[in-house]
Amino acid sequence: MNNIPHANKSFWLAHSGEYTPSLPLKGSIDVDVVIIGGGFTGLSTAYHIRKADSSASVAVLEGECVAFGASGRTSGWVVPVPVLDPTTAKVLYGKERLTELQNFAWDGLDYVQDLIKRENMDSDFEMPGVTFTTFRGHEKRLEQFTKYWHDQPRSKDSVFLDRAAVSEALNSDAFSGGCRMPHSGQVNPVKHSRELKRIAESAGAQIFEQTPVLDIEDKESFFILKTPEGEVRAKHIVLGTNGFTHLLPPELGLKRAQLPMFVYQLITEPLTDADWKALGWKQGQFYDKTTYCPPTCRTTVDGRLQFNLCDIYVGKGRSMDEAQKVQFYDAAERMYKKIFPAFQKLKVAQRWSGACSIPFDVRSQVGTLHNGRISYAYGYSGAGVMMSQNYGRVLADLALQRKTELTEHWFVATEEKGHAKLKRFPLIPGLIAALRTYFEYERVSALSRRRRLGLD
Ligand SMILES: Cc1cc2nc3c(=O)[nH]c(=O)nc-3n(C[C@H](O)[C@H](O)[C@H](O)COP(=O)(O)OP(=O)(O)OC[C@H]3O[C@@H](n4cnc5c(N)ncnc54)[C@H](O)[C@@H]3O)c2cc1C
Repeated sequence: MNNIPHANKSFWLAHSGEYTPSLPLKGSIDVDVVIIGGGFTGLSTAYHIRKADSSASVAVLEGECVAFGASGRTSGWVVPVPVLDPTTAKVLYGKERLTELQNFAWDGLDYVQDLIKRENMDSDFEMPGVTFTTFRGHEKRLEQFTKYWHDQPRSKDSVFLDRAAVSEALNSDAFSGGCRMPHSGQVNPVKHSRELKRIAESAGAQIFEQTPVLDIEDKESFFILKTPEGEVRAKHIVLGTNGFTHLLPPELGLKRAQLPMFVYQLITEPLTDADWKALGWKQGQFYDKTTYCPPTCRTTVDGRLQFNLCDIYVGKGRSMDEAQKVQFYDAAERMYKKIFPAFQKLKVAQRWSGACSIPFDVRSQVGTLHNGRISYAYGYSGAGVMMSQNYGRVLADLALQRKTELTEHWFVATEEKGHAKLKRFPLIPGLIAALRTYFEYERVSALSRRRRLGLD
């Protein structure tokens, strides 16, 4: 485990086989497109640019190693959820626009499955479906969420579960209801990221790891990106930096476009037959979609359970020190032991966390800046495994300056739609404070609800 880079950052990074990162960039190179970030967004974009135009030269610069960020720490759910809260999204954008975004997410689910099949990717992909659940006190939110899924032509087969049905499925009376949605998949995110790297490289992209971008100079007809031992001259930059985006040079105009939000995870050792019997579950995938700090659980191909914790932390300043809230792990273990008494016997193999990216909107952001010379996608709010890869297709078209069906979607913010002016928007500091307060309110109210229910 010691030879595997950043093995302490997630179970997936530690246990997805041997890995030697690509060499850092040394010296100068010229490319058509340079991509910052070696996660799902950056790697998917690199692959699609090369597939669309094999004459376009592409380099990916990753500061640490492929999947170092959220892509290597995620739970790996491949869920077609494009917005944080469909009810609010409908009010903000209207039914038609929300439907267009939701259809893009459905396409994304198909796209990820097709890609894995077509490129023969070893990603441990499975399609077990999910039970969206809620604790007592959020029945209204669950009802709205269930109605939303049931109204979707693609998920008419979602079923509402009353309290008794959820109790039976999960062998626990802690939940007040749920919604079974069969169209949800899961991957081992590190294996999948490394497979994305493989297919991007075989399509002709160059990938440099251990190559942080330290500075960016705009020379008007091209950019120069400085790295510790080299530099890249490129006509177009793609930003695939998600929760790290605020750390990029401020001249890009994205310093205040999103906030990093740390989400905490734990995984057990493989369960024995006796453990499964004691748990008494009908299936192992549940996801509380009615709060921002959701109790969730998924299975792995080697018979482990991977839980999300129920607390979140919104990062401040430049610090990306995700280890600072270790007490969250203890609180989560206390909660899961109370919800599922059989959890007491399970051994926790690893705990970790990572940064999601929260934008000032209930949906992720994709678009261009600097007269179309920079494109970006970020702000997946913890539902980016599928969206980030699907945005890779959009970003490829933006980088190649192609107007396509994908770039014409209303949610693709090319500059004429006004997004680039966001950095000058005078209310940004107030919005940041409001967003922080909101997430803290969600965290504290989730905690007091757990206490009321005797789960803490
Ligand atoms: C704990 C956790 C659980 C999650 N669970 C789910 C889930 O189950 N399902 C789901 O759909 N989504 C989930 N998400 C969200 C999802 O993982 C992310 O939306 C997605 O991985 C984002 O991919 P990305 O490539 O945009 O960003 P990242 O994977 O964060 O990649 C950004 C990369 O940019 C690099 N970088 C940053 N700055 C620089 C620089 N200056 N120079 C060079 N490189 C740089 C970083 O090192 C990093 O590798 C979760 C996220 C977290 C953190």
